[in-house]
Order: sequence, then C-alpha cells, then structure tokens
Amino acid sequence: MISIPPAPHRLTIQETQEILQTSMSGLSDHEVAERLKKFGKNEIPDPKKKPAWKILLKQFKHLMVYILILAALISYLTGHHIDVYVILAIVVINAVIGFVQEYKAEGAVEALKSLLVPRCKVIRNGKLLTIDSKDLVPGDLLALEEGDLIPADARIVEQKNARSMEASLTGEAVPVEKHTAPIDENTAVAERANMTWKSTFLASGSMKAWVTGTGLNTQIGEIAATLKTLTPQKTNFQIKSDKLAQQMAIIAILSAVLLFLVGYFLQEADISEVLLISIAALVSAIPEGLPAVLSIVLAIGSYRMSRKNAIIREFSATESLGSVSTIVTDKTGTLTQNTMTIKKVWGAPGKEVVVTGEGWDHRGELIGSGEDLESLKDLLVIAAHSHKSSVHRDESGKYKVTGDPTEAAFSVLAKKGNTERNLKIVDDFAFSSELKYRATIIEWNGRLMKVYIGAPESILGRTSFIKKRCGETGAIGEEDLAIIEKHLRDWSHESLRVLALALKTLENQEEPDSDLVFIGLAGMMDPPRPGVKKAVEDCHRAGIRVIMATGDHAATALAIGKEVGIVQPGREKVYTDSELQAMDPSTFDKAVLEADVFSRLTPLMKLKIAESLQKNGELVAMTGDGVNDAPALKQANVGVSMGIMGTDVARDASMMVLADDNFATIVNAVEQGRIVFNNARRTSFFLVTTNFAEITTLILAVGMGYPMPLTATQILWINLVTDGFCDKALATEKGQGNELLLPPVTPKENILNKNIVPFLVINAFFMTALAIGAFVYYLPEGLEKARTIVFIVLAFTQLFNVLNMRNLRGSSFKIGLFSNNWVNYALLVSVVIQVLIIEVPAMAELFDFQPVLAMEFLFWVFLSSFVFWIAELYKLIFLKK
Ligand code: ADP
Ligand code: MG
Repeated sequence: MISIPPAPHRLTIQETQEILQTSMSGLSDHEVAERLKKFGKNEIPDPKKKPAWKILLKQFKHLMVYILILAALISYLTGHHIDVYVILAIVVINAVIGFVQEYKAEGAVEALKSLLVPRCKVIRNGKLLTIDSKDLVPGDLLALEEGDLIPADARIVEQKNARSMEASLTGEAVPVEKHTAPIDENTAVAERANMTWKSTFLASGSMKAWVTGTGLNTQIGEIAATLKTLTPQKTNFQIKSDKLAQQMAIIAILSAVLLFLVGYFLQEADISEVLLISIAALVSAIPEGLPAVLSIVLAIGSYRMSRKNAIIREFSATESLGSVSTIVTDKTGTLTQNTMTIKKVWGAPGKEVVVTGEGWDHRGELIGSGEDLESLKDLLVIAAHSHKSSVHRDESGKYKVTGDPTEAAFSVLAKKGNTERNLKIVDDFAFSSELKYRATIIEWNGRLMKVYIGAPESILGRTSFIKKRCGETGAIGEEDLAIIEKHLRDWSHESLRVLALALKTLENQEEPDSDLVFIGLAGMMDPPRPGVKKAVEDCHRAGIRVIMATGDHAATALAIGKEVGIVQPGREKVYTDSELQAMDPSTFDKAVLEADVFSRLTPLMKLKIAESLQKNGELVAMTGDGVNDAPALKQANVGVSMGIMGTDVARDASMMVLADDNFATIVNAVEQGRIVFNNARRTSFFLVTTNFAEITTLILAVGMGYPMPLTATQILWINLVTDGFCDKALATEKGQGNELLLPPVTPKENILNKNIVPFLVINAFFMTALAIGAFVYYLPEGLEKARTIVFIVLAFTQLFNVLNMRNLRGSSFKIGLFSNNWVNYALLVSVVIQVLIIEVPAMAELFDFQPVLAMEFLFWVFLSSFVFWIAELYKLIFLKK
C-alpha cells in the first residue's frame, strides 16, 4: 500500500511517481477503490454547519424570551400562578415553531450546497473523465485547464504557461508561475512552484499533476479554512426590515411605557397587573418574528430557483434578482444553443462551398466544384487538428460533446470532408478570449507548422499572405481583402458566426504569431435556444432591459439580436470594443444607453459597461464564463455564471450559477426574486397591521378611561398565533403569474411604500374600532365577558387579514382565496385553537374567558370578516390593475 511523501516538492517526477505508485495514464478503478478506503473522501467538513440542538438553543436566546421570562417571574411573585404556566407554554411553543422553521431553512441551504458539488477532470485507466472532486485519491492524475478550481494538493508533472491564483491559501494576489523541477525541501508553501494547492485556481495555461493530498491532508485542510459556500449576508430587504422592526420596537416601547403610566397613575390599577400588561403589549407590538420570517422567505425562494436551474450561491442574490433592471448577457450558449454547425466554408483562392448536415452528426457533405473543394484541403487539415474536443454518442444514441462546441464543429467539418486527424501534434494553445484565437503546432509534410482558428479580425490583423491561384502563397492584397470582407458581411447577415483559419511555417516554436498565411473562412450556424425569444419579451414587459455583450462579430450579433428580440426596430446600433475604447467617459455612458448589442468585447469592457449602467442607477445582472470575466461578475449586482460551459473561476466570482446556461433561466430567477420581494412585503405588512391594531386598542381603551381590554396572557396568546403561524404561511406564497407585468421595484423603495400605507391604516383602524366597540358594548355584562369578545374580534380580524395580504395588488379572489395550502393549514389550526380555548371550559378558565354562545361567537366572527370585505372594496376602488 502506498504512503504519501511528506514533502513531494523536493522529489523528482520519477521519484514522485514511484512513491505514489501511479503513472501518466492514472490509476485503475481497483486502485482508486482501495485508496478511497485508506485515505477517505476528499472533503473538508464544514464547521459552520449547525447541529439541531444548537438551532433549538438559539430559539431561547432572543430578547423577547427574556422579557417573557421576566413577565413569568412577575406573575409568580405576585401570585398569578396560572399566568406563569401560560407564559412559559408560550415561550416553549414559540421556540418549537422557530426551531421547525429554522431547521427547514437550514435544510434548504444544505440542499443548495449539494447542487454546487465541485467536479474535476482526471485521467484514469488512460481515459479523461470528469468526476466528483470528493472521489479523488492520492496518485490520481489531474488534467487541469485555465479557469479550473484545483480540487486537491498535487505535484505538477507537466505544464504549459501554467499560472495559479493562490490568494485563497497564501493571500498572494498575483498569479504564481508554475514549473515541474524539484525544489529545496525548506521552501515556503507560497514558493513551491512545482505544486498546486486545493482551493486555488489555475488562472492560465494547463497542467497535469498527481494528487499528493486530499481532504484534511491538504494545506487548506490543515489550516481548516473552509471553502466559501453560501454566506448568509444581510440582504437589502433584511437591512430595511431591520430598520422597520427597530422603528416599530421604539413605538412599542413608548406605547408600553404610556400604557403603564396611564394605567398606573390615571386608573390607579394594581401595579403588577399594569406591569404585566405593559410587558405583554411590548412583546406583541415588536415584530420579533420578522428577521426569522425573512430568512425563510429567502431560503424558500432560493430553493425554488434552484429547482428551476438557477443555483443561488449567495442568498442576497435571491432578493437582488427581484430588483434587476438590466440583464447583460453573453450570446453564445446562453442566447443560442451552442450546437455549432458549419454551414459554409470558403478556401482561398476558390469559391464558397456549402456544407450539409445538422448538429453534431457527422453525416453530411461538402457541395462544390472539384476546384473549390481542392482549395479547401488546407482548411480541412487545420479543422482536423486544431481542436481539443470530441463528439461521441451515448447509449441512447444522442450526440454529446466534450470540450468547446466551436472546436467540435471543426472536428465534424473535417469528418464531413474526409480528413483524418493523423499528423503529429507538437503543441496546442487553447482559445484565449483576449487574443480571440487558438493555435496548434503540427508536423506537416516534414515541416513544423502552426495553424490558427479564430475571430476573423484577430486573424486578419496578423496575416500578410494568402493562397493564390497558382498554388503559391503571395502577399494579401486589396482584392483578397475585398473578397474576405464580402463573405464576412454576407454570412454575418445570415446569422452565421464566422471564423478564420490561417497557418504559418515555423523555423522554431517560439516565433511570434505574425505574418500568417490566410487559408479561409468557416461560417457556423448557432440557432437561438427555444424559449429565449419569449424570455426577452417577458423582460421587456417587466421593464427590464436586455443587453447582449458578445465576443462575436457585430453583424452576426445584430442578426441574432434581431432574431431573439433584443434589438428592436429603430435601435439597430451596435458598438464594438475598439469603438467604445476610443470614447471619452460621457460619450461612453451615452453609447451604453443607446445600443443593446456590444460586440467583439473584451472582459474589461464588460466591467466598464456594468459600471456605467450602475452609475445610471441600474441594478445589473451580468453573465460571464471565462477567467477574465471574474471582475465584471463581481462588479455586477448579480453575477451569473454558467454551470455547463463556464470556468470554476467565473462560478466562484458569481452569485448565481445557471445549471443549463440558459438565458430564460435568468428570467425565471428574476420572476422568483420578485415573488420573494412580494412575500417579504406581505409578511411585513401583516405584522405591522396586526401589531398596531393590538397596541392601539389597548392604549385607546385605557386612555378613554376603560379598564384593560385584554389580560396579559390573552395578548400574548393572540400574538403567538398570529406571529407564530400566519406570518410564516404568508412567506410561502407561490406568486401569481403577474410578477413580470410590472416594472422592477427600485432597491431604494421603502417597505412601507406610499401606495400601501392607507390600506394598512384602514385595516388597523377597523380592527381597533371593532375591538373597542365590542368592549364598550359588553362592559355592562362584566369585564371578563367584554374581554372575551375583544379577544375574538382581535384574533379573527387578524386571521381575515391574512387573506388580505395574499394579494397586495388586487382582489384576493383573483388568485383563488384558498389557493395556498400552507395558509389554509395555518388558518385552520389558528381557528381551531382559538375556538378551543374559548369553548373548552378548562382552557377558558386558564385565560379567564367567559362562555360565549355559538351564535354570539359567529356573529362577532362575521363582523370581524369586514376587515376582509373593506379591504376588497378598497382594492376594487383604488387598485385598478
Ligand atoms: P462569443 O462566444 O460570444 O462569440 P467569445 O469571447 O467566446 O464570444 O469568442 C470571441 C470570438 O472568438 C468568437 O466570435 C469566435 O470568432 C472566436 N472563438 C470563440 N471560441 C473559439 C475557439 N474555441 N476557437 C477559436 N476561436 C474561437
Ligand atoms: Mg464563447
């Protein structure tokens, strides 16, 4: 059995291989299984995960609980023994409700984390596989590329231009260059350049490395730092609702003090009773449930988003999505399908040739004259060799692509042109979004040749020669350029994505990429994804601007933009990166407002566009996939990365990952974000109205010289039922299908906006008036009876108010009065509880209730229901939507 060398950086590659008992074709399945048993999984346990008992304990650590316990103590000391039990029961029930909710929210967080399982590429049995990073073992051969997260500590065996970002481990902000030679044993971790570390990133280049440590046996594992997962940052809405809760707390404290003063000095009531009631009023007027409910709203929202392929990495994104006013999106793969089919090719000095066939299926032909096909020979050789992708069929016969679809399209083209990949590949340079081309060095006819595929402008910028009719190469002339331009123009207008091919004979491998020989063009079709057009329409209807930011050619981008509806008649403007670069800041800001398509963009320009939009007050969601997109993703209010095609670096910098890379998924998430926002509002409104109604009833009654209209335990009980069940049920509303019909709410808007305040005031006013009216009416029948009726009124008006809050923009009947089962259950349980404690004599006695006749009960419930009818009337008159 193997053991891991303590300092693999001092070993030669040969020694490392012997000690790790591995090879360049990796481990066998059998070896992997044995090593997994010996070394365990490659994971670092998350110390942030809370055990259930801690969550339970936390429920007792609220200020409210202390106040309640103080109240219990006062009751005990003053001989109100029954109140002690009731109050303690309230504390316990409250804690249980809180626990269940929080436990469920934690579960949702866990479920989200499990969707973000990191995967990595390894070579096992000589084959390249993608596996769950947890299953890595020492000796595994990692195959790492630009943008990959390093899944374990490993000794580098092969590398090309490899540079790593190791800030997460060493704090070093500059990428570290890597090599493979042995290093002195006492070198510091940050300088062990022949090693690569778990949790760092490969910023550029590529490398192969043998795993030397997994799980806790890694540098990062040893310092037990945790990888960034979901961070429970305070969201904009939480900050605002905290402020609201604070303001309400101040009002509650002032009211409680007022209540005490009036009760004690004006009415000269028993001090212990006044004190208890004041405390109870305080407890019920403070919306202590609000922060917890908002976490639940966010957790539920995030969970629902993930079920629709939008995986949230930061909870705050869930809410920000609801306020997004501009989406800046990639074209290739996000708006389009990324099933590149080359439809047309042209090789100098011949004429255009049409390619038949669809998608990844390599059945198809090149249709052209013998002479034109002859001109394509070099182009096909380049197509066959300059790619790192493969197309294969899975068991069900479906075609699957590994690697970049653009490159796979060239491999399919080569097959259609019957050109084999049989030349020796000396070196390969992966596509760079900075350079906008890729290259491969091959041995061709006994000579060293570098071949290129890339964006036409980038290739043309480095080209000096072209194939001529006689079969010779000659200087590229005006005439040649005119033909190339014409093809570019024509093909782009047909929505084809055009790439150029070129080559250069090398004397040595270090020669610069200049003086290339132009070989030809390929035009590929990448149809829009189904559903994207509708998603763009949805955005426009929802007041959200959609901007395409692409690396592609302006004309192709414009053509696709028109197809999916991003470009609307009269706004056909497109700016390219170089045009934008030449602008002064104010012209630039204007340009960003003027055009919806930006082409040939570099990642840096995406960052600038995001900044300019934000300066203009927009809330920006922006997609990105490459290493260089990370700054733009961080700058955007909601950075969105790709789950399929993107790099780990981009994912790490993003707040949301699209599991299907689909633009429509962003729009779905925005819709969910708005639902989250509405649910947060709903619960806040509900708590504000009910709490205000309770406290004003108490103060008004006492102020008017009447006795306390409720006892302390009665107040606490009403509060338990309303703040305990109903607010949380409201947090689960599913949305009403009209979320994308209105413009986004600006993040600055207050929770209690002007439109809603009159509605809440009318609600609270009615509740208070009815309660006081009932109290005064029943007082002649005795204080206890009057209190019982007040209890019924306050409890039931609040339950009817739940129905009001289900639809804030119109009649609650419109969405189906009982269409949310959670609300139905919460109401049912609340009604049953309230009826039982009044009608079951033993319980009624606990709360000092007097018997109420069924008809009387029903009558007051009926009157209470007017809180709903009045609200419906208000909505009918004032909310004409
Ligand atoms: P987009 O994918 O939106 O077209 P990119 O920044 O990914 O933008 O690519 C910019 C341009 O570089 C593409 O339009 C294409 O011309 C070229 N290109 C993209 N991928 C590859 C690749 N794998 N190999 C060669 N050239 C590529
Ligand atoms: Mg791309």
